[in-house]
Amino acid sequence: MATENQKNKMTKVSDRLNRLSESATLAMARMSRELKAEGKDVIALSLGEPDFDTPDFIKQAAKKAVDDNFSHYTPVPGLLELRKAISYKFKRDNGLDFRPEQIVVSTGAKQSLANVCLSLLNPGDEVLLPAPYWVSYADIVNLAEGTPVQISSSVNKDFKVSASQIEEKITDKTKILMFSSPCNPSGSVYTKEELTDIAKMLEKYPNIFIISDEIYEHINFTNIHFSIGSIPHLKDRVITVNGVSKGFAMTGWRVGFIGAPLWIAKACSKIQGQITSGTCAISQKATETAVSADPSEVMFMKDIFLKRRNLVLEKLKEIKGINCNIPQGAFYLFPDVSYYFGKADGKITINSSDDLCMYLLNTCYVALVAGTPFGNPECVRISYAASEENLLEAIGRIKNQLSKLK
Ligand code: PMP
Ligand code: GLU
Repeated sequence: MATENQKNKMTKVSDRLNRLSESATLAMARMSRELKAEGKDVIALSLGEPDFDTPDFIKQAAKKAVDDNFSHYTPVPGLLELRKAISYKFKRDNGLDFRPEQIVVSTGAKQSLANVCLSLLNPGDEVLLPAPYWVSYADIVNLAEGTPVQISSSVNKDFKVSASQIEEKITDKTKILMFSSPCNPSGSVYTKEELTDIAKMLEKYPNIFIISDEIYEHINFTNIHFSIGSIPHLKDRVITVNGVSKGFAMTGWRVGFIGAPLWIAKACSKIQGQITSGTCAISQKATETAVSADPSEVMFMKDIFLKRRNLVLEKLKEIKGINCNIPQGAFYLFPDVSYYFGKADGKITINSSDDLCMYLLNTCYVALVAGTPFGNPECVRISYAASEENLLEAIGRIKNQLSKLK
């Protein structure tokens, strides 16, 4: 049977499209929706999306924006009032100094990341990706004709990489280091000391840019978030990415933003001006209210995520062969499941985390995401942005199903 790429080649789609994979998180979400539509009782722990509704005070701001006729095109990089609010937020929460001209608001942090990569990369430029990394990083780099270069880590190292591991992968083609902290999918949080070590090493490589994806800033169980861009000597080469999808439960509003050196902000705005223009005006007004509020307004969600993390970690201990770190942020667990590779239930043999995810989806209707597209094929990602009831039911089903593999 023809693969998706072979089928595409039979049509006239571009080589660029053929180099791209479907987002694994979105693919798993699609498959679980399809099974649900067939009437199957699927528990989807695949999509990284808070299960909370957007807080009322933010919704009120959006309703007001509708009545105030925020129905027109906005400036491409976003409404000035919003960029002023983001500039204030960066100073208040992160010790970062960005003037409103250095801020570009986009249709989700996903577009922010794409804008930056399209602005900075020439064909063959290398982008260092500490693994595990968020699935879309490698494909965004591919789309921009850059070359993703993976830096491996593992559960025993809390899925972090050191300054010297990064340095080993630096070549004269290295253009960007891109990472998220708190990390999707591992939940690892880089400390100030670890980021300072990395920054010190980067002093020797002044041509390398850093994309610091801080979208899980407000879901950090250590309660200490450190922005690498606040280290003075990196000021001119760090692009800080953030947004409201995760911390404010606003995934569907589609707002992300960057603070960057002025020339990079201008470049991103130029690209965005030819692709999407400014994002939705109503969402921008809602975001202005969200980022202006004291972060304590949304901490109740972090507290609930922490309770769920502990619950799921406890339950996972009851399953043989699951090796998990203790994530300090975001809402994912990323256990090593390689113990099950080579095992079979009599009919189906599991050879990879992709096999394991398909096995769990088709047999006990629990949707996870394989670690392969995150750069760690020995792991699976479990999103615990779900009710306690669903989490307990899902882990019970997984335990029962895995016990059949010998
Ligand atoms: N970065 C990371 C690490 C993410 O997990 C996500 C989740 N979608 C994004 C960026 C993009 O978020 P959004 O486009 O919803 O702002
Ligand atoms: N960031 C989320 C995830 O990792 C949302 C889905 C996506 O945009 O990939 O699941």
